[in-house]
Amino acid sequence: MEQIESRQVFPSVEPGYLRPLIPDSAPEEGETFDEIMKDVERVVMPGVTHWHSPFFFAYFPTASSYPGMLADMLCGAIGCIGFTWASSPACTELETVMLDWLGKVIGLPEEFLAGSKGEGGGVIQGTASEATLMALLAARTKVAKRLQKENPDLSEAEIIGRMVAYSSDQAHSSVERAGLISGVRMKKIQSDENFTMRGKNLKKALEEDKAEGLIPMFVCATLGTTSSCSFDNLMEIGPICSDENLWLHIDAAYAGSAFICPEFRYLMKGVEFADSFNFNPHKWLLVNFDCSAFWVKKRSDLIGAFKLDPVYLQHDHQESGLVTDYRHWQIPLGRRFRSLKLWFVLRMYGVKGLQEYIRKHVRLAHEFFGVCETRRPL
Ligand code: PLP
Repeated sequence: MEQIESRQVFPSVEPGYLRPLIPDSAPEEGETFDEIMKDVERVVMPGVTHWHSPFFFAYFPTASSYPGMLADMLCGAIGCIGFTWASSPACTELETVMLDWLGKVIGLPEEFLAGSKGEGGGVIQGTASEATLMALLAARTKVAKRLQKENPDLSEAEIIGRMVAYSSDQAHSSVERAGLISGVRMKKIQSDENFTMRGKNLKKALEEDKAEGLIPMFVCATLGTTSSCSFDNLMEIGPICSDENLWLHIDAAYAGSAFICPEFRYLMKGVEFADSFNFNPHKWLLVNFDCSAFWVKKRSDLIGAFKLDPVYLQHDHQESGLVTDYRHWQIPLGRRFRSLKLWFVLRMYGVKGLQEYIRKHVRLAHEFFGVCETRRPL
């Protein structure tokens, strides 16, 4: 980090540059750490794109801080795989509490928190893409089960074949991809002149699709779109989702970190209508990749959708109602102790420190905007 500004931001290597720099096969005998570190500079660094260089302006920010890095090292050192409570109680319990801490500091409604004695709770996913996919798959199962109960003659395949999910035409490509992976058709709602998805256009699409015998079941609203950081209108979309019994997922992958500052929370007005909410502390909240926070109002929607119980994963406390087995909340089985990163970062910066960090970035953005305005060609 100390020399990062002197490194070339985007490497000038050609594809295939690396293979000739190292042997064709793994060494028979072990090597020393010093030898390996020398090769990091010779082989790796010339090919790194430096996301933390002050001259890097591509894509989106990726977070990094020394508490985050230390926590990642500790996670590696402990090296547990926390798929169930029994497979590592601390890994499970710290995650549940950290997601409550984080939910509280960004002003999420109580129903999303596990400690509220409600039915909600949070989990760390690897990426926002996984969070959207989980939400869509859970909604798919929930709706399919409900409709099969109401119409026992319909097969699950018939129901899924008629399902439709919606997002704005500004949503991230991962939302469309969730549709491709889950086999649910995804329709894009045209956004308005501010790149905002509005209730009117959503309602029109729903009416047309229902008239064609399709089954609307899921809406993904974005708070902070990738192309322009626009915000979908939750106060219009939310009530429609409630009336129509549609699962509302909110993708706030990038902008969600800003909700740690109360003055930006007007941008999440209507969040109370959502069934699930996601943002990436690994983008803008100083937690090193990967850490994507995902909350649901009803944890049974996730657990009910993905529960399998082979004997080798069972443990004494699983039916006690006192423990969380995160394996039911995600696609992979294995999971790292990622909540250490949240714990270290939240404690070492404090909420005030993180708020200052976000406010500084917003101030810099305003300053940049001001410079652009004064230099705009006539
Ligand atoms: N959603 C939005 C709004 C994004 O900006 C991005 C990434 O830029 C994503 C989703 C995908 O994020 P991830 O890499 O965590 O899947």
